[in-house]
Amino acid sequence: MTPHPSRNTDLAARDLAHVWHPCTQMREHPSQLPLIPIVRGEGAWLIDADGKRYLDGISSWWSNLFGHANPRIAAAIAAQAARLNHVMLAGFTHEPALQLAEELTRIAPPGLTRVAYAGDGASAVEIALKMSFHYWHNAGQPRRTRFIALANAYHGETLGALAVSDLPLYRAVYGPLLFDPIVAPSPDWLDAEPGETHDEVARRRLGDLRALLERHAQTTCAVIVEPLVQCSGGMRMHAPAYLSGLRKLCDEFDVHLIADEIAVGFGRTGTLFACEQAAITPDFLCLSKGLTGGALPLSAVLTTDKVYAAFLGDYAANNAFLHSHTFSGNPIACAAALAALAIFRDEPVLERNRVLAAQLARRLAALREHPHIANLRQTGWIAAFDLVRDKAARTPWPGAERRGLRFYRHALERGVLLRPLGDTVYFLPPYCVDAGDLDLMVDVALEAVDAATA
Ligand SMILES: *Cc1c(COP(=O)(O)O)cnc(C)c1O
Repeated sequence: MTPHPSRNTDLAARDLAHVWHPCTQMREHPSQLPLIPIVRGEGAWLIDADGKRYLDGISSWWSNLFGHANPRIAAAIAAQAARLNHVMLAGFTHEPALQLAEELTRIAPPGLTRVAYAGDGASAVEIALKMSFHYWHNAGQPRRTRFIALANAYHGETLGALAVSDLPLYRAVYGPLLFDPIVAPSPDWLDAEPGETHDEVARRRLGDLRALLERHAQTTCAVIVEPLVQCSGGMRMHAPAYLSGLRKLCDEFDVHLIADEIAVGFGRTGTLFACEQAAITPDFLCLSKGLTGGALPLSAVLTTDKVYAAFLGDYAANNAFLHSHTFSGNPIACAAALAALAIFRDEPVLERNRVLAAQLARRLAALREHPHIANLRQTGWIAAFDLVRDKAARTPWPGAERRGLRFYRHALERGVLLRPLGDTVYFLPPYCVDAGDLDLMVDVALEAVDAATA
């Protein structure tokens, strides 16, 4: 019998002849790590070349908001592409870039009135870091050269963004190339002392941060934080009280606050922006991932009139922020973002999400007793748990056993895309899932946990 010809196999072989994939030990393809050619997306589902369907339980790295090939976003992209693909944003402007800036400043925390565009999340972080540093330079405080970042942070993988990240897996080898931030302890509520509430963890960590600011404020440009959820760091969560306290400390010590909402923005934590839950306005707000509904790369940094004003002056004074990216404010990407924001305006997205998130919480509550599941946690639309060897002692599995990878393969086999961060399983589907999709996601996850921990 000849085997059924598989387009998947053909495409994977052609790919592996040339394509170097992100976040992948290429030698594991294809024997340990399947390589799946996707030919189509339909709502929350991805369809491979052999016609198999996968429920996208992680929104393709947290980018997709309203479904793959969303018709409204696709139409906006097509219309814009037929009119104007691109023009440089230096000396020129266009309706999509200016309208998106109007929209973003309208919906963002109050006081963020200025918008700089870039392509990817990491580029937005670079802009925020450079702008903050350059602000202090322009303000006559050139001693301010340092940044405070949180333990377990992730802000992207270009050198500046990686410098303020704290995940050894991505950072360690490049250490000699990176500037050293001052690292403050993470307010992660999993680090609670026995009997300590989430708010008490936040207060204790604010005390640690205060001590650092007392020593270093004079030489510090900014504190950079991922509000409410450190996503790449394993979906580690903290109380909004940390953010409100952080804003107060940054004001008291006169340092900037950079909020990296690249992952958590656009409704992931239950509010449009995570900062809203603490009623704070950062000095810089970084956005990407969901900004275009996940259809195209685009990022933005929002800041205040005060920061903007510090860059105005005589041309000869060299005060301007000359940082540039060729595709800054690309019209097609901005049109996609406008279409995504129109969906938030026209549909009760966050209300609907609240109902579904509550359903997800109920379903996951049943896993609480599972002998290999610990630290079940949820903030809005983001839910996670850790695979552990011993539940009572919260002992992790030895990393070399790759239990998370076993989980991933099993879930894929069953048609659900859930890609753990190490042994942390998390759920972050597009908002267009229905109750049945959520049930399927949890059912398959449970099976995959059993398979991975057997
Ligand atoms: C993904 C991410 C980034 C980097 O964005 P890219 O588009 O991948 O460069 C930065 N910060 C956070 C919090 C992220 O989750």
